Amino acid sequence: MATCKDFHRRSIEQPDAFWGEQAKLIDWHQPFGKVLDYSRPPFARWFVGGETNLCYNAVDRHLKDRADQNALIFVSTETAQDRTYTFRELHAEVNRCAAVLRELGLGKGDRILIYMPMIPEAVFAMLACVRLGAIHSVVFGGFAAHSLASRIDDAKPKLMFTADAGMRGGKALLYKGIVDEAIGLSQHPPQHVVIVDRGIDTDLRRVDGRDLDYAQLREKHMSAQVPVQWLEASEPSYILYTSGTTGKPKGVQRDTGGYAVALAASMQHIYCGKPGETMFTTSDIGWVVGHSYIVYGPLIHGMASVMYEGLPVRPDPGIWWKIVADHKVTVMFSSPTAIRVLKKQDPAYLTKYGPSTLRHLFLAGEPLDEPTARWISEALGVQVIDHYWQTETGWALLSAMPGVEATPLKYGSPSFPAYGYNVKLLDEGSGKEIGANEKGVVAVVPPLPPGCMTTVWQQDERFVNTYFTSFGDQLIYTTFDWGIRDEDGYYFILGRTDDVINIAGHRLGTREIEEAVSDHPNIAEVAVVGIHDEIKGQVPMAFAIVKDASRVADAAGRRAMEKEVFDVVNKALGAVGRPARVHFVTQLPKTRSGKVLRRSIQAIAEGRDPGDLTTLDDAAGIEQIQAAVAAAS
Ligand code: ATP
Ligand code: MG
Repeated sequence: MATCKDFHRRSIEQPDAFWGEQAKLIDWHQPFGKVLDYSRPPFARWFVGGETNLCYNAVDRHLKDRADQNALIFVSTETAQDRTYTFRELHAEVNRCAAVLRELGLGKGDRILIYMPMIPEAVFAMLACVRLGAIHSVVFGGFAAHSLASRIDDAKPKLMFTADAGMRGGKALLYKGIVDEAIGLSQHPPQHVVIVDRGIDTDLRRVDGRDLDYAQLREKHMSAQVPVQWLEASEPSYILYTSGTTGKPKGVQRDTGGYAVALAASMQHIYCGKPGETMFTTSDIGWVVGHSYIVYGPLIHGMASVMYEGLPVRPDPGIWWKIVADHKVTVMFSSPTAIRVLKKQDPAYLTKYGPSTLRHLFLAGEPLDEPTARWISEALGVQVIDHYWQTETGWALLSAMPGVEATPLKYGSPSFPAYGYNVKLLDEGSGKEIGANEKGVVAVVPPLPPGCMTTVWQQDERFVNTYFTSFGDQLIYTTFDWGIRDEDGYYFILGRTDDVINIAGHRLGTREIEEAVSDHPNIAEVAVVGIHDEIKGQVPMAFAIVKDASRVADAAGRRAMEKEVFDVVNKALGAVGRPARVHFVTQLPKTRSGKVLRRSIQAIAEGRDPGDLTTLDDAAGIEQIQAAVAAAS
């Protein structure tokens, strides 16, 4: 068995041989002529001339060996509705959906915008699109009309696929109403809106000629067999907009063959899933994690995938672990944010529904602080693997690879560069490589490996200018994240390049300070931002959630708690990293994908306008920051 080091080295030094081998993990209609065409840097074309199809690989090819095994397991604690589809049943539904789309004139290259709650029809629609060679763009359900309209105008879909409503915490969210509003704001209204009517919105209104009912359309195509549209490997499969944590979302374009190979390889080398087993990814189909590991990854690999509509704490905080036990989940993927929510609950829930069948729990999306990593790992008794990636990369850039070699884990570290990624840590100013234990920008020498974004949708120039021009003349991809590599080669992500605080010339990542604050046993969660200071340039300001709220119930308690946090940070980082103030809140403003909106917190703390809040999950988070800042001034 190869070591991770050898495996990685081979992927960089002999990419043709390495990826040529990985390409055997998927089915090709037409073999590729060349593994990589890199004649137009930084644009990489993988598996040139090869023809394949994502839907075929995720569904059709399994009919031979596992038609009657589970493919999609839908669990909804919102509607108390569970539905399971075998690969045979999934195949039938996808064909029906594809027939509907075809009847409405959709075909290769057309865009379809999917704005759906977490219900199986959303997966059918995604798979039906790629079956036809149409390009889907899933927009996270629950984004406001304004955000949806800007994505409609960028993707210019011929058709939108939606539902009457979704449910969250027992409350109905009227998706169709938001679609109507967004179309009203848009410059490029779609010709048709197909609606899955769940019977939640009893006042559902339809626009004549434009709006169509999915159940009625489907009825006409019950035994449809829609041929697969074979695509050249680098033809687009989908567009997905980034989360918008740092600014205006970018339309990440993904290819077909490279993505299929990358996901198939990752299921084996990173996630260690076995065909026939079940994977549970707690994300949403509106995010890249949902695309790659609720839908395409597990299905391509012949695994069943759990699709969960509901909150992690309802009906009780053990619901995820109940799903794991009920469906014998072996691979689970979630986010540090979600684990921190559970950390505020009684840990007895983690084991209430029986011992875990999990081999690994993977986490990504935000820095995983050491206390949280240690807590969940010990409480569950399974390996918890932090891995780091972006919408842009489509799969992990830094990760342990237990399918290659069982390397020891270090809390707080997403381990090593994944195979295919030629990762460098560069000095922000000079662009030169830095040494062990020095802070640098995480960068990747192109070509980016298979599965990564191929361009910004219809904006090649923006792709190059945004991602490849940070280091002067060097054509090198920047992640816009700070990292550090220790003497053993383990990486640590310190935060985003625009999240660095410059305190009298000392540059500290927000994450370092957050980790230090989190060392206090009563801190459940914290966000640190740098705010302008006349003397020092910037000073850190902390907004913290405590576990035991009674301790900060009055001014004296808050002062005492703040003082304790100061002491803890003093010990960990020294006085330079000590926040000027620690404000206590019960909620932080987060994007819908669970990321802390530091740019808005910072703006409010500096008395500025919080900026674009369309990606904000819950207005209460922002209001709390405003109230805390107002109370302090
Ligand atoms: P935008 O690019 O629109 O500002 P975004 O960067 O939040 O939004 P995503 O692509 O969803 O959009 O998030 C990727 C980012 O999430 C990474 O660049 C990194 O900052 C953070 N991240 C992801 N995984 C990890 C991890 N394991 N550890 C630390 N940070 C992580
Ligand atoms: Mg980003």
